[in-house]
Amino acid sequence: MTSSSRRLIDTFGRVHNNLRISVTDRCNIRCFYCMPAGDVQFMPRADLLSFEEIERVVRIGTTLGIDRVRLTGGEPLVRRELPVLVKALSAIDGIRDIGLTTNAVLLGDQAEALKDAGLQRLNISLDALDPEVFKRVTRRDSYDKVIEGISAARDAGFSPIKINAVSIKGLTEDQIIPFAQLARDTDTQVRFIEFMPLDADNQWQKDKVLFASDIIALLEAEFGTLTSVEQTGQAPSSDYTFADGRGRIGVIPSVSQPFCVSCNRFRLTAEGKLRNCLFSLEETDIRSLLRDGGSDDEIADAMIACVQSKAAGHQINSPDYVQPDRPMYSIGG
Ligand code: SAM
Ligand code: SF4
Repeated sequence: MTSSSRRLIDTFGRVHNNLRISVTDRCNIRCFYCMPAGDVQFMPRADLLSFEEIERVVRIGTTLGIDRVRLTGGEPLVRRELPVLVKALSAIDGIRDIGLTTNAVLLGDQAEALKDAGLQRLNISLDALDPEVFKRVTRRDSYDKVIEGISAARDAGFSPIKINAVSIKGLTEDQIIPFAQLARDTDTQVRFIEFMPLDADNQWQKDKVLFASDIIALLEAEFGTLTSVEQTGQAPSSDYTFADGRGRIGVIPSVSQPFCVSCNRFRLTAEGKLRNCLFSLEETDIRSLLRDGGSDDEIADAMIACVQSKAAGHQINSPDYVQPDRPMYSIGG
């Protein structure tokens, strides 16, 4: 049990039980909205937290109310032996839910081991069903590997398969209907995410965002009026059902309708910095505590302080918005 004085509650009363853990900043593709095309400066390997260090942070987090974790990156599957970490985290008392966000390029070889290790949820990031559009987004030719990875995930027993697709104006409009067909015809849940200003090249512009409202309009033009599904829990997506009752689709309107008011997440970067928001400009170093003899209490205090300093919400829509100097792949999306 966590005592109420030792919980991760911010000054707006939001209780944090969800820790997103980046295990690497490396990646095997180069999505333009996340990474630069070339000359990426990755963190030195010695700077990355070890599995034991991550496990310790999570164990301390559970004493403060953390019960859900999600592994991300960079591409988490490029971190060697990831199932070993999944197994260790699933053995921690108090962890009820372990998820992974992946581009699925390496999932073909790892889906089964991840399932066996105790991975409960899998989110696959795929922005296009057309291989040519996929290549324009990712600047790599890995579409077939992704499809192989999705099929391996299905075979390993991950169900439903969840796909998150970043939507970009002028690029992915013609992918919306094929994704909706996939969601209607198979056990695949699809959610469209608005493009956020977290790209390495600082090329984000509001007029490149395909807004949730644009997506709904495209879907309604094809399938008729969508019905909004009542929200449960703290999921950031708004879900809709189709007029004929077949299938369901989600949108994550991070830019147009931020879900900050119900946010329960904070983050641990691959090199051991705590961040209370994707967009925060400040972070708390806990690697030095982990490596220089810091006690569990000191690490817990650092987590509490990090959450307490969280702002009410991000400022993407304000003229004062300042993009963090770490892009998405380096924070952990
Ligand atoms: N490499 C893994 C993957 O792509 O699933 C995990 C890390 S990636 C940074 C996590 C998620 O962030 C992906 O779904 C990706 O599409 C999303 N993402 C990255 N940059 C984004 C941006 N600028 N706006 C919106 N979503 C973004
Ligand atoms: Fe890699 Fe994921 Fe970023 Fe794409 S979104 S470049 S897959 S870390």
